[in-house]
Amino acid sequence: MEYYSNQINRLISELSSLPGIGAKSAQRLAFHILNLPKENVEKLSMAITEARNHVRCCRECFTLTDDELCPICKNAERDHGTIMVVENSRDLAAYEKTGQYNGVYHVLCGAISPMLGIGPADIRLKELLTRLQKDADEVIIATNSSLEGETTAMYISKLIKPTGIKVTRIASGVPVGGDLEYIDEVTLLRALEGRREL
Ligand code: ZN
Repeated sequence: MEYYSNQINRLISELSSLPGIGAKSAQRLAFHILNLPKENVEKLSMAITEARNHVRCCRECFTLTDDELCPICKNAERDHGTIMVVENSRDLAAYEKTGQYNGVYHVLCGAISPMLGIGPADIRLKELLTRLQKDADEVIIATNSSLEGETTAMYISKLIKPTGIKVTRIASGVPVGGDLEYIDEVTLLRALEGRREL
């Protein structure tokens, strides 16, 4: 990209480091940004900086939020005795989009993966157990159906079983290796309704 000057190259290279943005998209975005009015560019960069500075994990469920408690944990109308365990905030959003789940969540911030050296201590499992010491009627394990997701689900069910709390796993209507995020809402709902006790 020697035909572009340094500043342009720098912008393109930063943009192409984002997931799903190839070289061509990065160039298109870069020129789009360069053609925007200055105040729009300011707004965009402020939104990025401020989100990065203020967004943190919810004290209760560990989803990303800009407050101490996320809106779901704060909501007294939700059923706080039903906890759905998901791998990340994007999976939580996928279930929220169905509009049919009224419980709360627990975000693990990852999944157990011996191959990547991610063990039980590297995800928010300890925090889940602490939460379960309060009232909980059911834990719905909604980790992905990948090898990591299944390993994590098994591990969690073994941990929780002795406590006597009901543990369920979403149905495997979700394709193997499928990322929850990309699955349509109907499939997600079917998986939730068809959950079985572990
Ligand atoms: Zn929360």
